Amino acid sequence: MELPVEFREYAVAALGEEVAQGLFDVIGSGEEITSVRVNPFKVDESSVEEGFFPAEVEGKVKWSELGHYLKERPVFTLDPLFHAGGYYVQEASSMYMELALNAIEKDYAARCGEEEGTFFAQRVNALDLCAAPGGKSTHLVSLLGKDSLLVSNEVIKSRSVILADNIAKWGCDNVVVTNNDPSDFGAFEGLFDLIVVDAPCSGEGLFRKEPEAIGEWSPANVQLCAQRQQRILADIWPALAPGGYLIYSTCTYNKHENDGNLAWLEGLGCNIVTSSSFTTASESGIILTEKGGLQFVPCKIKGEGQFMAVVRKEGDWEPSSFGSAAQGKKKKGGKDAKKGAPQMDKDCRYLPDNYVKVLQGDLVKGYRKELYEKIKFVEENLRTVLSGIAVANKKGKDYVPHADFALQAVVADMVASECLPDGISAVEVGREDALKFLAKEPLVLPGAPMGYVLLVYRGLGLGFVKNLGNRTNNLLPMARRIRMEIR
Ligand code: SAM
Repeated sequence: MELPVEFREYAVAALGEEVAQGLFDVIGSGEEITSVRVNPFKVDESSVEEGFFPAEVEGKVKWSELGHYLKERPVFTLDPLFHAGGYYVQEASSMYMELALNAIEKDYAARCGEEEGTFFAQRVNALDLCAAPGGKSTHLVSLLGKDSLLVSNEVIKSRSVILADNIAKWGCDNVVVTNNDPSDFGAFEGLFDLIVVDAPCSGEGLFRKEPEAIGEWSPANVQLCAQRQQRILADIWPALAPGGYLIYSTCTYNKHENDGNLAWLEGLGCNIVTSSSFTTASESGIILTEKGGLQFVPCKIKGEGQFMAVVRKEGDWEPSSFGSAAQGKKKKGGKDAKKGAPQMDKDCRYLPDNYVKVLQGDLVKGYRKELYEKIKFVEENLRTVLSGIAVANKKGKDYVPHADFALQAVVADMVASECLPDGISAVEVGREDALKFLAKEPLVLPGAPMGYVLLVYRGLGLGFVKNLGNRTNNLLPMARRIRMEIR
């Protein structure tokens, strides 16, 4: 498809004549690149080279320790490890999170005279504002400390459900998924140490991968996107702590949505700090823009188009008071104040004692004690789609293990240490049985213990069945069922 003249002009203005020409050439090449990012909570990097993925590995993504290229695009739906949250299929340039966090560590260290690595060693409160389907969120939570909290938000309801499903598969207990507009974060003034705004944009960076996007591009749409991005940034800016960091990204090249918006952000009171991690980036072929953002251009790197910048809000950063602020504000009357104290569950033994177990209807949910007050504050102030761990449904005296529980990193640890809770046993299955389970086809497990059985595929929990001997009851939700032919 012909590239619009104005697109070419914008690209030349942003990238210079030579790089822009290289870009125009590769857009038409139709080259397809497949990349995946492993889940460090579930997968040991050393297993990656040994046939871990359903296609051969072609090398590492230069700017992400967790990212790998595959030689071809397999049918991921037919790989049980994909369903077990062992990895996330993500376009390589979108794996910029390590570069961003590295820039933050360097900037923080230089400002505070501390060693590098001290910012994220603390308990950080992070918000990923435009998070669906979950690429940046699953990456970010993989890099944050386990005691940090990530609020992963998506404004479009149907997309927030997809986001919640991907977060559940990733298996972390420190992510809350919400479904709110950027203007809904009033109660969080100054409470987030880190905010990611991966903004809706004109999508120029996808032109090679999705040529139909070229037909939707227009200068008017670029203006519309740039203005919407400013609205989103203005709405969320008060929620960023003084001295806190904001990562802004788009998958475009033009200055209106990228450097232009960085200049506009400076007007809100911030410094652009991305260039502090430019050494790694430049070695990878990533370009530093005039304003100090990182630009991924497909003729220079192995990936699609992406722009990313990190800014630091003016002011001195202090470890956030999120927890105590949460307690203070709760007294004024939130959801709990109206509904009464949450009902605790005392009998479910599936989670260790460092979790608070709350009964919501018949659902037992587990919240790690250190995070419970913060998560409650989020639940009271935002439309929450997913929080804590869905552990089990209480049916009389029985606790029927929840499908999400099987996917938790904490359960992967239990499997690895052969330390499953009372009432649940684990059975390792091969690919054929794993796919039968995922397709909800009849499955028999000869010799397996009776009762609740966690099906394990190559060390990772897939889901639960109730083994009745001559047959099993499959506890996988219909929504997660594989619908394609599995043979
Ligand atoms: N960060 C995601 C990831 O890595 O998987 C991709 C995000 S995508 C580039 C932008 C997201 O912004 C979309 O999910 C879209 O629904 C959402 N969005 C659209 N309009 C918005 C608005 N006005 N405010 C906030 N988010 C919006």
